[in-house]
Amino acid sequence: MNRNQVLPQVQLSTEPSALKKVDFCAPHTYKGAGFLGISDLPRLAEEASAVKAGDGFEWLVETHFEDAPGGEPRQILKLDLKGRLHLICQRCLQDCAVELDERRRFVLVSSETEADDYPMEDEEQEPLVASQHFNLLETIEDEVLLSLPLIPKHPEGFCEPHASVFGGEEADGDAKKQINPFNVLKNMKKNS
Ligand SMILES: [Zn+2]
Repeated sequence: MNRNQVLPQVQLSTEPSALKKVDFCAPHTYKGAGFLGISDLPRLAEEASAVKAGDGFEWLVETHFEDAPGGEPRQILKLDLKGRLHLICQRCLQDCAVELDERRRFVLVSSETEADDYPMEDEEQEPLVASQHFNLLETIEDEVLLSLPLIPKHPEGFCEPHASVFGGEEADGDAKKQINPFNVLKNMKKNS
């Protein structure tokens, strides 16, 4: 029998504070979705170079049980993240919008030991230690942090030009060497 059919499904709260204490030992599954602003994620707020309207992450969480050969059914947690934050572009040193669209899958295990023993080569899912007061907010923030590019950059050709570029004749040689987004588009067409 499929255990999901007998277990009730509980709606997760969208409140950041409620996400800090989720009971993953209870006999039910979860489903929920919400939005977290940068201010709800303090470690991310430290990384952000600026917070603009709409910055933050939509999250979607779903759990279900899966039969494991020769063992207890395993609880699977699926996490989708989609959103944006601003980091410093390492090319032009201006704010740069970084968009993320991530999908993660975890298996809930009962102890740290079990998590340590979990096969590293399983690339489909990672272990999380289940508890009655599981901090799901922290997990969401961890996943956003892990998904950030090591060297954030605007897309090629879309860096913020220096103010002098707009000065017309005043533009000096250096400014002229700046990448012109229109030329980049032309080149892209040529290469395709
Ligand atoms: Zn840039």
